[in-house]
Amino acid sequence: MVIEVDTGDTPVRALFSTREGGVSTGGHASLNIGATTGDHPDAVRANREVLARAAGFDPLRAVVLTQVHGADVLAAGAGGGAGTFAGSLEGVAECDAAVTRAPGVALLAMGADCPVIAVWSDDGAVVAAAHAGWRGIVAGVVAAGVEATGVAAATLHAAVGPHVGPCCYPVDHGLRTVMAGAYGADVVSGDAVDLGLACRRALEQAGVAPERIHVEDACTACDRERFFSYRRDGAATGRQAAVVWIEEGA
Ligand SMILES: [Zn+2]
Repeated sequence: MVIEVDTGDTPVRALFSTREGGVSTGGHASLNIGATTGDHPDAVRANREVLARAAGFDPLRAVVLTQVHGADVLAAGAGGGAGTFAGSLEGVAECDAAVTRAPGVALLAMGADCPVIAVWSDDGAVVAAAHAGWRGIVAGVVAAGVEATGVAAATLHAAVGPHVGPCCYPVDHGLRTVMAGAYGADVVSGDAVDLGLACRRALEQAGVAPERIHVEDACTACDRERFFSYRRDGAATGRQAAVVWIEEGA
């Protein structure tokens, strides 16, 4: 159900959800966290409650964004998502990244091939989550998320979640050229782009130290058992998520 991220001795928890352990059926089976992919809202609510309970974050304050492949960042306060996470299911804002200093407010970024990123500071005082598909990466969402933490990037750690690997992500020549130009020739191999490596480079360009960046190498399209994949299954697939929060009372 979850892939835990090692956050050392900080009061931060970070994890990536998988598709396992939920109640949704068909292409959304089973732990679909996304509310905009045609799944039944009651199933999405149930899945979100299941994930929150299993992971140990507060569903009443969890923040889900309306993701638009942009670079805007939401600064979430102590109220977080104010019950929308497993209630109305409405996104809190049209943003692809969120940042918070409020303990107990879990930030979610969702994807079904797109990398999702969890960021936290050495002292655990600030966390951020971002959805970083190729459009968001090119738009600058990674740098914007780092900047919005308000701390020196050298004090940050980042984990990039499961995403479509270069094994399964052929793209057109124009995008290959853009990505290679921005993030290095080695983000392109053959006709494919390595989105995880592009995220790593974007984090490094934003000032995060290479040794503080972890990139999950699981390919969402290859691993049908564990992950949703838009490339593999089309529009009626589910969403997995990155979740990051500061533990209360730590
Ligand atoms: Zn693959």
